[in-house]
Amino acid sequence: MRALTSHVPLIIGDQLAPASTGATFDSINPADGTVIATVAEATADDVARAVEAARAGAKVWQRMRPSQRTRLLLRYAALIEANKEELAELQTRDMGKPIRESLSIDLPIMVETLEYFAGLVTKIEGRTTQAPGRFLNYTVREPIGVVGAITPWNFPAVQTIWKIAPALAMGNAIVLKPAQLAPLVPVALGELALEAGIPAGVVNVLPGRGSVAGNALVRNAHVGKITFTGSTEVGQEIGRMAADRLITTSLELGGKSALVAFSDASPKTIADVAFTAMYGNQGETCTAPSRLLVERPIYDEVVELVKARVEAAKVGDPLDPETEIGPLINAVQRDSVHSYVLSGVQEGAVLLSGSTETPQDRPGQGFFYRPALFGDVTADMRIAREEIFGPVLGVLPFEGEKQALALANDTIYGLAAGVFTRDVGRALRFAGTLDAGNVWINSWGVLNPASPYRGFRHSGHGSDLGQSAIESFTKEKSIWARLD
Ligand code: NAP
Ligand code: MG
Repeated sequence: MRALTSHVPLIIGDQLAPASTGATFDSINPADGTVIATVAEATADDVARAVEAARAGAKVWQRMRPSQRTRLLLRYAALIEANKEELAELQTRDMGKPIRESLSIDLPIMVETLEYFAGLVTKIEGRTTQAPGRFLNYTVREPIGVVGAITPWNFPAVQTIWKIAPALAMGNAIVLKPAQLAPLVPVALGELALEAGIPAGVVNVLPGRGSVAGNALVRNAHVGKITFTGSTEVGQEIGRMAADRLITTSLELGGKSALVAFSDASPKTIADVAFTAMYGNQGETCTAPSRLLVERPIYDEVVELVKARVEAAKVGDPLDPETEIGPLINAVQRDSVHSYVLSGVQEGAVLLSGSTETPQDRPGQGFFYRPALFGDVTADMRIAREEIFGPVLGVLPFEGEKQALALANDTIYGLAAGVFTRDVGRALRFAGTLDAGNVWINSWGVLNPASPYRGFRHSGHGSDLGQSAIESFTKEKSIWARLD
């Protein structure tokens, strides 16, 4: 991998180039607020050029034998594995995630995802149907052509591969617009795709503004599908633009997930899982269980155990392998999180850990925020209804299964949910009635590229992972042949 230079280019075809206007933006390290790179800022013209490069790249890619595409994706996975330390550090420097998470969670997920989809390349099949009369009818799965991908800043490395791997496995080329707040790893991954021997134009990466480059990508007449991960508001806007063009979308959006703990489960396990799932990545995780619902008999004990974990959490330099909670992405996000903490106090929740003191901007100090824990949260409070996207956990007491279910599903979102209980029947019954795309029983956050990953309701639709990717990234064609 090319060492990070202070000037980060666009990747269009096999060219690593500045934007056509020469415009750049700064990429900031949120741990100290310093500029770590200036990044080429793609214009609508650059997007048009990238889509042309992708159209040409898709043709080359589709002419290759499937087994050759498998080999190239495996080579790409191996290159990522070989550069994992550099990529993990780059991600942590660009967006603040603790290095131990970058290394032990993000990088292995990326490699596994590419390996899974490399295998799927050779397993895409059509069907023959029972045709009436003297006809043969069969279906084929065709690539869409050019896929447009738009990604958020909270998992820049994983999100890039979650888009590239399924799109390429199904024979498409991709134009990816990463978030301005964390573009460095996506560009590095675009370079590695070229280095792996993936043909020019198959992977194009264009950092830039959502309202300019992202918008131009969704509106480009040659883009046949948009896969978007980000906020619900932007997802809705993209869905509307895509509907005008009658192209398909997969939208992975926000969440307000509930972890439901019944009193027969171990309070210590609940507290450990809730702490890790909620405060990992500083709470900037779409599936974070920001509502912890605890049955009355164990409520006090669970709250005490979570509180002890929060107070002992090591907040600091994300490059320190001991650090558990790094800085938030920027001052705007930090101040937004703080306003939620103030709203929780105003609405009567009990701030068990955290602070109401206004965060200060100090040169060189970055955007750290003390993690917050609320008890006695009720379902009507803003902290129980809105996605905070920061290290703030609200605990809600409940009594009995009926109330637990009503509370858990009382949200516009439907990304993830979980249940802790030793009662097998209740666990399965409850999992069946939780209205969310990802449900965990006695665990949280387990992922595998072979399994679909999607939200319900305001958390979006369509899955890019698992066998669902075949539906998501191909067009099914039905062919009829008359036999006489
Ligand atoms: P965001 O503000 O929605 O931005 C996501 C991406 O969309 C960015 O690349 C952004 O570009 C771009 N964008 C913004 N406006 C656009 C427009 N009009 N047209 C086209 N593209 C546009 O989200 P974020 O703040 O980066 O990420 C946090 C959100 O992502 C949270 O809500 C979180 O829950 C969600 N998320 C969901 C999942 C999931 O799998 N369900 C995973 C991770 C995150 P800029 O560079 O200009 O911002
Ligand atoms: Mg940055």
